[in-house]
Amino acid sequence: MRIEEEIKLDYSDVLFRPKRSTLKSRKEVNLERTYKFKYSNFEWTGIPIIASNMDGVGELNVAQIMSEYKMITALTKQHKLDNIKKFPSIKKIYPFVSISCGTDEKAYKIVQNTLKELNFFQFLCIDVANGYSDHFSKFISSVRNDFPNKTIIAGNVVTADMTQELILSGADIVKVGIGPGSVCTTRIQTGVGYPQLSAVIECSDAAHGLGAHIIADGGCTCPGDISKAFGGGADFVMLGGMLAGHDEGGGKLIKKDNNKYIEFYGSSSETAIDKHYGGLLDYRSSEGKVVKIEYKGPLKETIQDILGGIRSSCTYVGAPSLKQLSKCTTFVRVGRQYNNVFDE
Ligand code: 5GP
Repeated sequence: MRIEEEIKLDYSDVLFRPKRSTLKSRKEVNLERTYKFKYSNFEWTGIPIIASNMDGVGELNVAQIMSEYKMITALTKQHKLDNIKKFPSIKKIYPFVSISCGTDEKAYKIVQNTLKELNFFQFLCIDVANGYSDHFSKFISSVRNDFPNKTIIAGNVVTADMTQELILSGADIVKVGIGPGSVCTTRIQTGVGYPQLSAVIECSDAAHGLGAHIIADGGCTCPGDISKAFGGGADFVMLGGMLAGHDEGGGKLIKKDNNKYIEFYGSSSETAIDKHYGGLLDYRSSEGKVVKIEYKGPLKETIQDILGGIRSSCTYVGAPSLKQLSKCTTFVRVGRQYNNVFDE
């Protein structure tokens, strides 16, 4: 047994230190980035925020709105070719849509078919709860062989060694995060995880050294957390809970005592597994939970609030664009980030 003594940080453990700046207004801050991906050579421009491939978030109607802001949506694994084909604007929004699958043969066949028929799609997100198995790296290599020109997102991992391994196996982008998610119970169920900001800092450093990119996936609870992820070196930030609970996600609306709620659940919660896979296998346990979140109305308002927050972070630290945010970042470690005396 060994203990690592170095302190690892979550978003809530730090704040940005403000810096002198010549920016006049947050309106001047450019949030778009252009990336060229390591293997696919695809050049992408947009605001690097991704709606997670979870039910109620990774949906086509969400993608429609996200794409208006040049942000990406990873569709849930359950999206079938026919549904995607039928979506009226799919040929317009495809640079901002990723399809997803896991590592099972059947799902991969469906994805192969989708990519064959709808060849314009660029992004393929392959994610599993635990990206540390040998089998997973081998699977990424074989997908890279099948699709030399597609941009492959692979995850999830939280350490530099495995980030490098996935990149060397053929991933253009590595998805980082084990356990930080809003409806994730992995840390309770297994005791496994890694504080998310440190995971982002360490994995982005490893990926950038190899000319690849990372996505900070999970754990953002407010716009400031998204800025902290970018400040820590994330190329993209993936959001579940913050984008859930809106009209476009399509979840069940629940009315209770004059309030409206929408059910939201983890992709490996019992609810999700019952719905998509016909129940838990007896050697597995659920690593996700079901929550009711307050209905938030149209997605646009939330997006504008998020983008306003990130622009403002940039002006506080003197970054004229999102690209400069990490260079302008000094984090201070804090014992308390927020005064919640009037919160319920
Ligand atoms: P959030 O933005 O809600 O904090 O985190 C979203 C991320 O949580 C997702 O993109 C995914 O990586 C992760 N996630 C979603 N569902 C589950 C689940 O049931 N269990 C675990 N361990 N993680 C989940």
